[in-house]
Amino acid sequence: MLNLDFHPTGRHFLQIPGPSPVPDRILRAMSLPTIDHRGPEFGALGLELLVKIKQIFKTENPVIIYPASGTGAWEAALVNTLSPGDQVLMFETGHFATLWQKMARRLGIEPEFLWLPGDQGWRQGVQADMIEARLKQDIDHEIKAVCVVHNETSTGVTSDIAAVRRAIDAAGHPALLMVDTISGLASADYRHDEWGVDVTISGSQKGLMLPPGISFNALSDKAVKTSKSARLPKSFWAWDEILEANKHGYWPYTPNTNLLYGLNESLDMLLGEGLEHVLARHQRWAAGVRAAVNAWGLEIQCQDPAVYSPVLTGVVMPDGVDADAVRKLIYERFDLSLGMGLGKAKGRMFRIGHLGDCNDLTLIATLGGCEAGMKLAGVPLEDSGVLAALDCFARHPLDANR
Ligand SMILES: *Cc1c(COP(=O)(O)O)cnc(C)c1O
Repeated sequence: MLNLDFHPTGRHFLQIPGPSPVPDRILRAMSLPTIDHRGPEFGALGLELLVKIKQIFKTENPVIIYPASGTGAWEAALVNTLSPGDQVLMFETGHFATLWQKMARRLGIEPEFLWLPGDQGWRQGVQADMIEARLKQDIDHEIKAVCVVHNETSTGVTSDIAAVRRAIDAAGHPALLMVDTISGLASADYRHDEWGVDVTISGSQKGLMLPPGISFNALSDKAVKTSKSARLPKSFWAWDEILEANKHGYWPYTPNTNLLYGLNESLDMLLGEGLEHVLARHQRWAAGVRAAVNAWGLEIQCQDPAVYSPVLTGVVMPDGVDADAVRKLIYERFDLSLGMGLGKAKGRMFRIGHLGDCNDLTLIATLGGCEAGMKLAGVPLEDSGVLAALDCFARHPLDANR
């Protein structure tokens, strides 16, 4: 039931790692009238979008846009490239890697899940050396694809995809490389072509600052070629008809027109600011949030500083503290939404999103809500995280934090 007595003033703080806060400029763009999706105006929009989106993935190859959540684009990547019973190699970085693995199983694919012992897997990135060693054993090339999550949203770890590419090459293995960067795109550095990724999966509601509802597959020539002989059933997700219709800026079915207006606006904002600046801004916010967690004397979920996520930070609660109770208190008291611990991490930690339409002050307010809420919940804190973050931001000015 909706609680109609709850009328907070001011703005809600949506600091979960997706959906992220949507800029007013995008909401306004989306409020324009819905047009004929077969008319000339739409075709022109479609062509423009399909060109601009490639710059975000850093690819010269086609990017497919689906009217679906990220999960749909996960399925699309698998069903377009694989056949029943195919083996794929996946790596357990956290909840999202686990869900993708479950999906593969349900589709009749045989995923092999590599993992680190204990809870280590959920606190580290993908271990490329383990992938290399496994591929080297696969002399008959039974493994058809390596599937990894770039930014693991359940833990706040951004894995080194270039290292995974090098591992596949070092093993001399022909497997496709498929990467989920649903929450990494446009917030964490990502390079589809340079890293030799065959299928990149992404979504709208994280770094692209859009509402949920569209998702992407960026392709390689090899992926397109493989799709022609892949035998898993596919119709709605099939790349061939979409690529054909996209040549003229259209889709084989009704695309979600108003979300595409929003995407066009988002691309203009991101490319106008410059992707490098956007990425630097996220790195800086992440450093500020980590400074706060360190000052509180709490643990960061990610234990390898080389793979700290610029998108979100997982904050581990001391033993005996229920992270969900703390989150609930913060939500009710301060109208601030934080990400919950997912899967194995449930109740152990909460996640602070620092992506989308944020700025230094919205993050300071977010940290203020966390700090005040944890104090109210009786969580022992060493120092003020808010002051530590302010200090970090002051020491690392970003030229015109536009
Ligand atoms: C959000 C997310 C998903 C799921 O996307 P939906 O849009 O919820 O279907 C999958 N993987 C990662 C890494 C995500 O962050």
